[in-house]
Amino acid sequence: MIPPQDRRSLLRGLGVGLAAAAAPAWAAPKDRKLGYAIVGLGSYATKQIMPQFAQCASSRLVALVSGTPEKLERYGAEYGIPQTHRYSYADYDRIRDNPDIDIVYVILPNSMHAEYTIRAAKAGKHVMCEKPMAVSSAECEAMIAACRAANRLLMIGYRSRFEPYNRLCIKLAKDRLVGPTRIITAEHGFNAQPNQWRLDKPMSGGGSLMDIGIYSLNATRYLTGEEPILVSAVESTDRSDPRFRTVEDRIDWMFRFPSGIVANCVSSYTSPHNRYRIVGDQGWIDMEPATAYQGQTMRINRNNHTEAGPTPPPANQFVGQLDHLSECILTGRQPIVPGEEGLRDLRLIEAIYRSAREGRAISLG
Ligand code: NAD
Repeated sequence: MIPPQDRRSLLRGLGVGLAAAAAPAWAAPKDRKLGYAIVGLGSYATKQIMPQFAQCASSRLVALVSGTPEKLERYGAEYGIPQTHRYSYADYDRIRDNPDIDIVYVILPNSMHAEYTIRAAKAGKHVMCEKPMAVSSAECEAMIAACRAANRLLMIGYRSRFEPYNRLCIKLAKDRLVGPTRIITAEHGFNAQPNQWRLDKPMSGGGSLMDIGIYSLNATRYLTGEEPILVSAVESTDRSDPRFRTVEDRIDWMFRFPSGIVANCVSSYTSPHNRYRIVGDQGWIDMEPATAYQGQTMRINRNNHTEAGPTPPPANQFVGQLDHLSECILTGRQPIVPGEEGLRDLRLIEAIYRSAREGRAISLG
């Protein structure tokens, strides 16, 4: 049993903000909400992200970019975006002349992230870019360089870092609630629908790993606070399934971390998973779902007794993510998930693919 006073102490520190510093050149006036332009009006943008601005303290939706005039009309009307703030991909670069736009949020197919991030930086805008950051580490490096050259911030849409149960889990692992972490298991997957860009390698950069397995990968890094030193991966794809002509279905891999922690990870396009478990020498902490849009559930096992984990203060992960970048710009901080974080994941994704392809473990420098 975790006594009530211990439950309170487990939550201590969670409400603390995300570190402050002196304001540099890009800092914007603090008395206004920063304006976001959404690029790509697909499912994630319209169903998950755009409705969240109503709850944001430091961010507002001011512009839309789409190749489909009907979508610009429909969402422009719904969100009160004037014609002057609606752009096609062809006239995207004109965002440079719109001072209401502070941040461009790139929510396009993966292969388009690099181009639209670099064009945004060249137009003088800060950038939020969806995961995976790009389809190669070389593209990630170019995106980071473009934002740096323009003196603009670049953040990757790793929303779980703003989700209260995931933040609590990071704290509990760090506090060694179940002893020092020895093993992590992380599983993410779903049944992929046919005929979509995610199954077309030139558009997606890869299969389940790029799309959903990246949650397993990223979680092992934020739960350990370490970078893997060894990876060993196995791919299992039925190439006669028309969905998997160019991308992988299953890829399972093992990471070894410097402290000796081993993570076993699953990424799948043919089975549903959304879970991770941290195992220490005194028990385990389990999250299922772990990285879903909502409904995170934590269970803790200590000394052979399992119970529900403590309930962290409620917070909306999407709002937290959107406002974090605005607040970083306003106060001159670097985001907790900058471009470099996306680059690290892409380098690891490349190592996982290489290990599976070559049938051997790969040491990571
Ligand atoms: P989607 O297919 O629903 O939307 C993609 C949008 O891009 C559409 O509006 C489409 O019209 C537009 N587009 C422009 N050019 C295109 C082209 N050549 N081919 C296909 N579409 C084109 O996809 P989505 O689910 O919204 O995913 C978009 C991005 O968001 C991806 O990078 C994905 O990984 C990411 N995403 C993140 C989360 C998360 O929880 N962080 C969830 C879903 C998606």
